[in-house]
Amino acid sequence: MTAPVRTRSSDEMIRAEEPVLAHNYHPLPVVVARAEGAWVEDVEGRRYLDMLAGYSALNFGHRNPVLIEAAHRQLDRLTLTSRAFHNDRLAEFAEALAALTGLDMVLPMNTGAEAVESAVKVARKWAYEVKGVPANRATIVVAAGNFHGRTTTIVSFSTDETARSGFGPFTPGFRVVPYNDLAALEAAVDETTAAVLIEPIQGEAGVIIPDEGYLTGVRDLTRRAGCLFVADEIQSGLGRTGRTLAVEHEEVVPDVLLLGKALGGGIVPVSAVVARRDVLGVLHPGEHGSTFGGNPLAAAVGTAVVRLLETGAFQRRAAEAGVLLEDGLAALVGRGVVGFRSRGLWAGVDIDPAIGTGREISERLMREGVLVKDTHGSTIRLAPPLTITDEELRSALAALEKVLAA
Ligand SMILES: *Cc1c(COP(=O)(O)O)cnc(C)c1O
Repeated sequence: MTAPVRTRSSDEMIRAEEPVLAHNYHPLPVVVARAEGAWVEDVEGRRYLDMLAGYSALNFGHRNPVLIEAAHRQLDRLTLTSRAFHNDRLAEFAEALAALTGLDMVLPMNTGAEAVESAVKVARKWAYEVKGVPANRATIVVAAGNFHGRTTTIVSFSTDETARSGFGPFTPGFRVVPYNDLAALEAAVDETTAAVLIEPIQGEAGVIIPDEGYLTGVRDLTRRAGCLFVADEIQSGLGRTGRTLAVEHEEVVPDVLLLGKALGGGIVPVSAVVARRDVLGVLHPGEHGSTFGGNPLAAAVGTAVVRLLETGAFQRRAAEAGVLLEDGLAALVGRGVVGFRSRGLWAGVDIDPAIGTGREISERLMREGVLVKDTHGSTIRLAPPLTITDEELRSALAALEKVLAA
């Protein structure tokens, strides 16, 4: 890495943001200027181990050389066509992604929220045209504690008041049931139900892992009820949990799969709705779309991401390093950690509130050269790049131990 070009100091840049940048985030006071692998470097040249990895958008590490090369090659050839024309990268991307997930068809979008919105529309249209739900009566059942994005429709079925308050009126047609509760789900599903939309592991809620059998139960129930199972794997998918998809831990195949974040390789936003042909087949020309969705640059990067996952190496690495993470966290239980949940290289860690809020712990870890993000209350989330070495992971755990002991 070459020396950063200093214009303003970190503190000056943070102060400069205040009057001109919307205050919809409360970032840690670190100004990142460059990055490589699992490491980021701030304006002053201080290095930090990135234990958040862009909420799993950076599963393959910062500036993964294979992905950067794919992006560079594509930048030199063709970047955008719009879907008004075909482009020579899209077929390969769709074929590769369908093959990776075992589903038939791909609807390329950009952000995760767009993939969720698209799935809501597809599920409703499927309900009217295939299932025969009376017009405008379709319902979608979701789980409390969900995080599916930030659009008006998506916050309509959020249970997080901060995400909703002040943004009504809301989109109707959603029923919220407790997560990990099959009986409640069964009671909420009826002949109007188009789909059950859930995260196989709830990331933003604090890496909440449902009981063994829950996903199988959702699959059985949706099949019996004749509605779609839509799995939002935007954060849990693409290697994070030690499998390509989190639903694979129960060998469940949803009808509709939502991918995003890591699909863009940490370079460009790439998301997708992947589904069976009889589901995505309800869309016809003009009924849905996106100017940037499926653009050649996104398709080239997305294809390169799928190629990385086809080897299985990243999934194996997440599973293997996940054991180290789990053991390391288990050793901290009772020593500042009150409990944790982990799967692969993904953990929600509940810190003893007497030691500090999640925010305070995150700030102290930052001063130790480790970047994490709090979720709610005293919970922090760990989701390092899947390229992290054992040694790097051990050093992050040592930093956590030090912060908790202080
Ligand atoms: C991040 C996330 C989204 C939204 O993705 P954006 O790209 O931020 O719009 C949706 N669902 C889940 C599970 C997520 O983690």
